[in-house]
Amino acid sequence: MNVLVVNAGSSTLKYQVIDTKSHKVSAKGSCERVCFTGGTFTHAANGSKKVTENIEFPDHKVAIEVVLKDLEANGVKIEGIGHRIVQGGWYFGDSSLVDEDVLAKIREVAPLAPLHNNPEANVIEYCLEQYPDLPNVTVYDTAFHFNMPEVAKTYALPKDVCDKLHIRKYGAHGTSHRYVSGRCAELMGKPIEELKIVSCHMGNGSSIAAIDGGKCVDTSMGFTPLAGLPMGTRSGDLDAGILQYLMNKYQLNIDDMLNILNKKSGVLALSDGVSSDFRDLENAHKEGNERAGLAVDMFNYGVKKLIGAYAAAMGGVDAIIFTAGVGENSASQRLDIASGLEFMGVKMDAEANNVRGKEAVISAADSKVKVLLIPTNEELMIAMDTAAIVKG
Ligand code: AMP
Repeated sequence: MNVLVVNAGSSTLKYQVIDTKSHKVSAKGSCERVCFTGGTFTHAANGSKKVTENIEFPDHKVAIEVVLKDLEANGVKIEGIGHRIVQGGWYFGDSSLVDEDVLAKIREVAPLAPLHNNPEANVIEYCLEQYPDLPNVTVYDTAFHFNMPEVAKTYALPKDVCDKLHIRKYGAHGTSHRYVSGRCAELMGKPIEELKIVSCHMGNGSSIAAIDGGKCVDTSMGFTPLAGLPMGTRSGDLDAGILQYLMNKYQLNIDDMLNILNKKSGVLALSDGVSSDFRDLENAHKEGNERAGLAVDMFNYGVKKLIGAYAAAMGGVDAIIFTAGVGENSASQRLDIASGLEFMGVKMDAEANNVRGKEAVISAADSKVKVLLIPTNEELMIAMDTAAIVKG
């Protein structure tokens, strides 16, 4: 089946057309600066060279219209559309075939992720109106974490408020964790039901997931993607008392405070402003910048601690997966994270680890715990879900 996979962000719309049988991508592109001026449309289809044009996108409906018209003009046939939805909230533990009810629920949970769910819902609305014969499927970033046990997903806050306002740990990167853990089982030649896996999605945003028997039992992101590890510009977990102290001291309102926590913290802040990009940090450290080194060390230390915590939570671990920008590319960070874990049966193979961007076992042959590099492919997962649901 030929599926158009749509990933609508707050100011972008990325897409791929994927054949779910061959996994071939026949068209791919992105709309940038959606809802702003100075928009650009970058696209390629049927093996053509990538082209970038200046097109204004006043909203996401215009962006998806431009994409669908471009596919038509290039003769790219699609049989279904798969939409990445950032927040499935308290409704969605699985991907769904879109109808009016699904669309209404995506809008209902939008206050949990307003910058994402609303544009995503607008894109779906356009597709339903303009292409009523094409089935639409929604795949939620939170769905993989939906059924985490109470001990993992509950906050120590008043129960009535949490119940009423649906406050719980929702997690993120669920589609990525699901994809790489499935591939891990395939590569290990074992049923996923028999495996305990720690999946490390390390990119600009990062989250770690404990996956026991194919089900997520804990994850580091929380009610929002601000929780857990220090990230590119996000603080990760911190003592809420700091908020009160800072807000009082500098007369900040909560929006100012969250702007700092989301955009001015993380490894950018730890490195004293060097960069939010791990490549820059590694380079700056090599040139002697100690704070850049500390930022990378603190991130790695956080990942290592979570691997240990999740091994304890699951009563063991059979495999550790590294994925996403940092996980797929930084051999030094993978080695740093996994070294010191020999006590729990992790033994890296430094030579095998000297690889980037392709599936590989990077632990030693006699390592009790397998360590794998598995490039993530959320788009393929969304396309496969779309085909499975459409075919019933
Ligand atoms: P993602 O959000 O998955 O696209 O990952 C983006 C992050 O991957 C960037 O912040 C980079 O710091 C990181 N990254 C990409 N390539 C490398 C590399 N060769 N070494 C270290 N980090 C990298």
